[in-house]
Amino acid sequence: MITPEEAVKKILSKAEPLGVQETPVIKSLGRVLREDIKSPLSIPPFDKAAMDGYAVKAADTAGASAKSPVELKVLEDIPAGHVGEQRLRNGTAARIMTGAPIPRGADAVVMVEYTGRKEGGVLIKKKVAGGENIALVGEDVKKGQKVIQSGTLIRAAEMGMIASTGRTMVKVGVKPKVAILSTGSEIVVPGKKLLPGQIYNSNGYSLTGLAMARGARAKFFGIASDRRRTLEKKLMVTLNYDVVILSGGVSVGDYDLVQNILLELGVQKLFYKVFIKPGMPTFAGIDDERFVIGLPGNPVSCMVTFGLFVTPLLDVMLGKREIGLRRGKAFLMEDATTRAGRRKFLRGKLKEIDGRLHIKLFPAQQSGVLRSMVEADALVDVPGEVTELRAGEEINILHLE
Ligand code: AMP
Ligand code: MG
Repeated sequence: MITPEEAVKKILSKAEPLGVQETPVIKSLGRVLREDIKSPLSIPPFDKAAMDGYAVKAADTAGASAKSPVELKVLEDIPAGHVGEQRLRNGTAARIMTGAPIPRGADAVVMVEYTGRKEGGVLIKKKVAGGENIALVGEDVKKGQKVIQSGTLIRAAEMGMIASTGRTMVKVGVKPKVAILSTGSEIVVPGKKLLPGQIYNSNGYSLTGLAMARGARAKFFGIASDRRRTLEKKLMVTLNYDVVILSGGVSVGDYDLVQNILLELGVQKLFYKVFIKPGMPTFAGIDDERFVIGLPGNPVSCMVTFGLFVTPLLDVMLGKREIGLRRGKAFLMEDATTRAGRRKFLRGKLKEIDGRLHIKLFPAQQSGVLRSMVEADALVDVPGEVTELRAGEEINILHLE
């Protein structure tokens, strides 16, 4: 049986970034940037007031205090969006608003709080140093500077940054088309009445959510019973998808036919079974251009294996620079024992204590306990041979985000 790293490698060896499309920056949240963003202008484009107050020559404020203010003549008012007309001479000032360009001759701004009004002039009650309360041209970005690298996930800050370079459109990765299919004769669509022996379909929903959250266009194709014919038919309608994800029917039970049917339909096996817990009976294959991934039916197993194997695949297709669940470390909050053998991925909740990341394991780690995923924000990655985990120990984690 292969390790999860080997499984990911097998999948990624067949994966390539999909195409690029242009999208309005305002709609780009959660997309993957597929071009370097360089700024054609300095940001800010001019020296500007960082405070409301008075633009001055700093030297004129030498010795100014509340007790002995310096009086300066006010030449004009400069609101934001306007350019001052006059050049400051010694002994003069201009009233200025935050964001307005610093007038010629001025080299500092005195905050309005440290000034007093005087007919035709202003009383400066505090000395300022040269450059004080001025946002310098190019302080944020220099003209021509690369501000965001291709392959970055666009969050709110990136949207703003791209817009501040004057752009309205941006190149992003085309969303992978993901088809999701649940299998199992006992699985029933929510909203229907449950008969004895039946359970509601949860995997179809959690997998659709996982795929969408990772930036894919996900479509849920419903439930196929454990019968060959229905499964075959469902598989045929997902032919033009980039990734088809099935859940259930991949373990070795008599009715778990998914792998056999996939192979009969010509899907080429990349691997079946990974030496992990949960999620051992995971299948991955290729059918022409599309990936066909069979995840185990247990609600936790299928979410964990999606994180381990499908997440990196989608990331590569989207053209992301960083692939797969984000790795990190945390201190274990309580002792725990695990069984030797397979590599374990335990569900835990992160907590910051004194600036250090800690993790508490969910008490029920069975692969059918979906509540553990509701509570969890990280997986603890436990090597196969480890059986004893000690409180205070620093361990590897995977962020679920
Ligand atoms: P399987 O992988 O088909 O052997 O299923 C393993 C377990 O997961 C069984 O208890 C199934 O009833 C359950 N299961 C399979 N598919 C789903 C689903 N879509 N939603 C909820 N539970 C499921
Ligand atoms: Mg089944």
